[in-house]
Amino acid sequence: MGYVDRVIDYYRQKDAQNPEFIQALEEVLDSTRLIFDRHPEYEKLGVLERLCEPERVIMFRVPWVDDNGNVRVNRGYRVQFNGAIGPYKGGLRFHPSVNLSVLKFLGFEQVFKNALTTLPIGGGKGGSDFDPKGKSEGEIMRFCQSFMSELYSHIGADVDVPAGDMGVGAREIGYLYGQYRKLSKLNTPGVLTGKGIKYGGSLVRTEATGYGLVYFVLEMLKHHGKKPEGLTTIISGSGNVAIYACEKAKQNGMKVIAMSDSKGYILDDNLDLDVVKQIKEVERGSLASYVEKCGHGEYHEGSLYDANIKCDIALPCGTQNEIDLERAKRLVSNGCWLVAEGANMPDNNEAVAYYLANKVLFAPGKAANAGGVATSALEMSQNSMRYSWSFEEVDQKLKDIMASIHQQCLNMIDEYNLEKHNYVAGANIAGMTKVVEAMVAQGII
Ligand code: NDP
Repeated sequence: MGYVDRVIDYYRQKDAQNPEFIQALEEVLDSTRLIFDRHPEYEKLGVLERLCEPERVIMFRVPWVDDNGNVRVNRGYRVQFNGAIGPYKGGLRFHPSVNLSVLKFLGFEQVFKNALTTLPIGGGKGGSDFDPKGKSEGEIMRFCQSFMSELYSHIGADVDVPAGDMGVGAREIGYLYGQYRKLSKLNTPGVLTGKGIKYGGSLVRTEATGYGLVYFVLEMLKHHGKKPEGLTTIISGSGNVAIYACEKAKQNGMKVIAMSDSKGYILDDNLDLDVVKQIKEVERGSLASYVEKCGHGEYHEGSLYDANIKCDIALPCGTQNEIDLERAKRLVSNGCWLVAEGANMPDNNEAVAYYLANKVLFAPGKAANAGGVATSALEMSQNSMRYSWSFEEVDQKLKDIMASIHQQCLNMIDEYNLEKHNYVAGANIAGMTKVVEAMVAQGII
């Protein structure tokens, strides 16, 4: 058995209780074998074992008091996965499904994604099994304060810089930052990204992941001689990433006809994004109220991917493992020829293999959704300089970064003689090469 297979096998047994982490590890390692064929010396240096083991995992109790005076306890985490190329960087997720397996998968993916941005940031991820749904403002604030009371001693502008993810938006970042400032007595806005504009946030950060996803899609289309105008597009999710992907897709003439949430989906040839924003960003409600609010379209319970919807492009922007093999087959049989991941790992490995085998243009999340973390790194730069760039300046930098990530994938496809549509291996090889070279240069630590 070769080096890569031995390491995969070892982690399958050692971390059998971490299925999402194993899934991510298999996807990355399987597509980067060529690096280890070219560099047999990496085996002796234990490169893969060091890559697969987080540098540090912090787990802590998060006690808080609900509105009825009852004490509630959640579990908090920060996985500082790899700091070889810069401070650990990656979001915080507040969702009942959060556990160590989910955060290790997200942190592992983040390492290579951050390397692809070409910015000096390492990879990390954190969060809690706290469910923000249905909580009052006071409860959210008390939870965030308690969470930060433990986390603050592990982070810093040059150490580890968390941001938002599912369940953590500008409101939560505001409370987290306030508590950090109180406890540390430091005014270092660069310790968290996704902050409000009035206290160190960056323009475009809110839109960055969704906009960046569409910028990446535009690069793919251009490279393959296609135009975006009129392409029928379906988007799963209706949170931060999905909403701004929809906005940018529409601005570029793509026809978005469907969006979803954790309970159901809407179908509408005249999809009204303002109504979706009102429901999700203001009311924090369910898409079930969409049809009544705007007077057109349809709402159905269940997954968008269980319906037969004719489309050219699918942008999965909800959560991990939304699309399995059966759903991937359904997408392709309904005419979908381009899939770009706004979410992290929304397609399982069988779905990805099916896309590649059927020549679907497929952009993995670590390339296509890297615009969020890239703009977070731009926020850090502005905080260091104590200066703000205009919306247009940040947006242009975001476009350039997404074009550069696309180009890096193409370069690796050429260099390793891969199939022309294999962005999976292209992205993984490009990201991993950079991290491994930095690790090797720094010795065995
Ligand atoms: P949000 O919390 O803003 O939104 C998540 C959305 O996904 C909600 O609409 C939610 O529905 C929906 N959802 C949750 N579970 C499912 C499911 N099983 N099926 C369909 N939809 C579902 O999160 P974000 O938009 O920030 O994040 C979405 C994804 O993008 C995650 O994978 C995240 O890791 C990734 N990502 C986010 C970045 C960012 O900058 N925010 C950066 C890079 C990646 P409901 O409203 O009902 O809860």
